[in-house]
Amino acid sequence: MPKAFLVDTTRCTACRGCQVACKEWKGMPAVPTKQTGTHQNPPDLTPYNLKLVRFSEHMDKSGKVFWNFFPDQCRHCLEAPCKQASSVEGAILQDAATGAVIYTEKTVQEDFDVIRGACPYDIPRQNPQTRQIVKCDMCIDRVRANLLPMCVKTCAMGAMSFGERDEILKKAEARLAVVKKESPKAQLLNPTDVAVIYLVAEDPALYHKFAVAQGPQLLTRGQLLAGMFAPFKRMARSIQG
Ligand code: SF4
Ligand code: SF4
Ligand code: SF4
Repeated sequence: MPKAFLVDTTRCTACRGCQVACKEWKGMPAVPTKQTGTHQNPPDLTPYNLKLVRFSEHMDKSGKVFWNFFPDQCRHCLEAPCKQASSVEGAILQDAATGAVIYTEKTVQEDFDVIRGACPYDIPRQNPQTRQIVKCDMCIDRVRANLLPMCVKTCAMGAMSFGERDEILKKAEARLAVVKKESPKAQLLNPTDVAVIYLVAEDPALYHKFAVAQGPQLLTRGQLLAGMFAPFKRMARSIQG
């Protein structure tokens, strides 16, 4: 049975527990960062931060400042555009049992701009040393051992749930009905397309530009052509191999 997450942003306090737990479980190194006058730290996803709690600061009509929190990660798309864009056979796989989209060690180098540009949520990042392209792997090692993904396990606020897709969808709809009573604009983000379903209380643009799926990003003509020809490249490589 495919798996899914519910990320209920209305329960998130931006403690960053999930961000740190992900980093620790994946053995990612610490990297220098700068205080830039916001709570956002680091400023964006990096090859060493596969999960990032985004802080969006706003002011309401009365001049009161408020923040929207968005724990960002790969959505494990049901039909993953990054997988379709890859020209290397076997570089990006979708686990049949869970639906996790996995970047293997073959996910390296030249296709990075095409793969990142294909992602509607701007998730993939590239390690500058190894050229490896990286993102969240659903903690597939833990899930295969019947453990929760590390970020879900760590969230003390119950903002994240993980389980069978059907059950998570039911839970998401039920929670949405409750939140909508106070926040009429509340919605689930791209629930039919992804395995990581976010519940937001307001216009998604007030959380993050890529909170909902965006169209293809601005690619150079060469990158676009590379993406278009990816399936043919894969075919040619498999014939040669
Ligand atoms: Fe939000 Fe939970 Fe992550 Fe803390 S651990 S930032 S409450 S999702
Ligand atoms: Fe790929 Fe982006 Fe979808 Fe993740 S969110 S599976 S990186 S297209
Ligand atoms: Fe990180 Fe695992 Fe959570 Fe993905 S599922 S964001 S790899 S802790």
